[in-house]
Amino acid sequence: MPSLLEVENVTVSFGGRRALDGVDLTAEPGRVTGLIGPNGAGKSTLFDVISGLRRPDRGRVGLAGQDVTRLGPARRARLGMARTFQRLELFGRLSVRDNLLVAAELGPACRNASSVVDDILRRLDLTDVADTLADTLPSGIGRLVEVARALAADPGVILLDEPAAGQDHEETERFSSLLGSVADEGVAVLLVEHDMDLVMSVCDTVHVLDLGRIICVGTPDAVRADPVVLAAYLGEA
Ligand code: ADP
Ligand code: MG
Repeated sequence: MPSLLEVENVTVSFGGRRALDGVDLTAEPGRVTGLIGPNGAGKSTLFDVISGLRRPDRGRVGLAGQDVTRLGPARRARLGMARTFQRLELFGRLSVRDNLLVAAELGPACRNASSVVDDILRRLDLTDVADTLADTLPSGIGRLVEVARALAADPGVILLDEPAAGQDHEETERFSSLLGSVADEGVAVLLVEHDMDLVMSVCDTVHVLDLGRIICVGTPDAVRADPVVLAAYLGEA
């Protein structure tokens, strides 16, 4: 059985400099897969390749057994892939609810989009800001709305790029249990995050990227104890 999401040997160069070099990664339904690494390691670039915003120079992206390497982002979204952006990419002039409705109407539950959206707003505790314009939100809440919008499409795979940036301890704990429950519903969650407590508490498997290469894959405990990983992070400091 292939994994739900399969990244094989992905290489991307920017003007002769390799941002990704032969990257392999998989994500499975019902699991939270972490992707960590120092700034500039290539995490967001890998998300661009997976979601179809950037064509790799080499390599392959598979989704549910289908080769999607040559498909654009909209086609991949219709096949069940959703993502959030490190730099918020909400529709600023739309309300929070309408941001979610746009996504829900593209998803499989499009006929009852508005009840799907109301459920997600409640689940993420966003009902109070449902009618607020997205570009007037504080960035911490904006991040949560990005996650809500990705969930509204009812994805099989969800890619989250630093979703907990700017959250306080209590918000991060709530977010951690939300990610666990999303995975429990059978979604493959791929999480890029700097908050190590969140990564260590919620991830089943962690991939470590450094200078465009995967240097370690394992359980949170194994990764945390790996001397190669420690050296990569100390090198950054
Ligand atoms: P991360 O998300 O892990 O911090 P990125 O994927 O954003 O890393 O960046 C990886 C490397 O690729 C960095 O050296 C970055 O400067 C470079 N890079 C990213 N996007 C571009 C781009 N559009 N043009 C040129 N270089 C880029
Ligand atoms: Mg990034």
